[in-house]
Amino acid sequence: MTQQQCRTGFVWHETFMWHDQGSYAGVLPPGGYVQPGRHFDTADTKRRFKNLLDASGLGAALRPIAPRAATDEELLRVHSREYLQRVKDLSAAGGGDAGFFAPIGRGGFEIAARATGGVISAVEAVVRGEVRNAYALVRPAGHHAEPDLGKGFCIFGNVAITARHARTALAIERVAIVDWDVHHGNGAQKIFWTDPTVLTISVHQDRSFPPDSGFAHEIGAGAGAGYNINIPLPAGCGHGTYVEAFSRCVLPALRAFRPGLILVSCGFDAGAMDPLGRMVLHSETFRQLTAFMMEVADETCGGRLVLAHEGGYSEPMVPFLGLAVVEQLAGTRSGVEDPFLPIVAADPAHAVLPHHELAIAQAEIHVRRLAASVSPTQPTSPSR
Ligand code: ZN
Repeated sequence: MTQQQCRTGFVWHETFMWHDQGSYAGVLPPGGYVQPGRHFDTADTKRRFKNLLDASGLGAALRPIAPRAATDEELLRVHSREYLQRVKDLSAAGGGDAGFFAPIGRGGFEIAARATGGVISAVEAVVRGEVRNAYALVRPAGHHAEPDLGKGFCIFGNVAITARHARTALAIERVAIVDWDVHHGNGAQKIFWTDPTVLTISVHQDRSFPPDSGFAHEIGAGAGAGYNINIPLPAGCGHGTYVEAFSRCVLPALRAFRPGLILVSCGFDAGAMDPLGRMVLHSETFRQLTAFMMEVADETCGGRLVLAHEGGYSEPMVPFLGLAVVEQLAGTRSGVEDPFLPIVAADPAHAVLPHHELAIAQAEIHVRRLAASVSPTQPTSPSR
């Protein structure tokens, strides 16, 4: 596939890899008997993903989208002025924690603002019709960030800010955010809690992080009641359960809502070898989830689809999960075989077990309510 044939955009900037949390031991700051070491959120996981795209030959075919920095005005569409200033001050002073498990280093503000701007740039390219869909390999991640608090390795709400940008600056009436990171998409849930124009859906490991949010009964409030859907799955789910959850909950919700744009918070920490997740997914699961999103984007919004990188901490495995996603977006195969696939596919964890079924059925109740409440005369979104 050549760049002329490829209609998939790709956002990357070397400085994303320079986001620096300092000395850490996994998720803990060192001290006492905790030996100093590396943070789980290393640059290497993402860099190896980019390297595999290039080594496979697919990287050269993707349409590069230059990430601009998000402006203060754009960041303030989600974050408080006080929080924005706190991040700037920390960044200028040499670094620190922007909230709850959200460390940044010197110059971290500029990197985080470019990560947000990278997702915005991807959406602008899709809306202008320059590319059909796009993958934004940005860092730091964003889906845990709240209006006045960095959280869970996230500084700014990259996807949430982009959804606001799409609504206000690009005049898209309805935006859907699908979050398949293994951790709850608490940021988007909180930001759009009362907003019926942004549908937020999170499929995650029950009570992982944050441990106190992501329950199925959290559906939004006021005008936004019904427009937040959580699908908390028990630890240990594999391919079959994710395909079932998407088929019965995520796709029907999107079809009922009919968004003008679909954004995906694309974490890879539901992969089988992740240190921070307890799910058993493999590359064919992520390929299938991407195919689902493309299918429903084609039906509802002319294929407008942007995936933004969130979590995923297995340095050897994430590149192969990511390659499957980007291959699917671009509609091609690089010919690279995933060496982890036969190992993980042989795991007996891929069946839909009774307690998985129960979790899906609970979320399905809210999807049916959403479908029933959305007017059948609601105008469809513009397509191209
Ligand atoms: Zn995560």
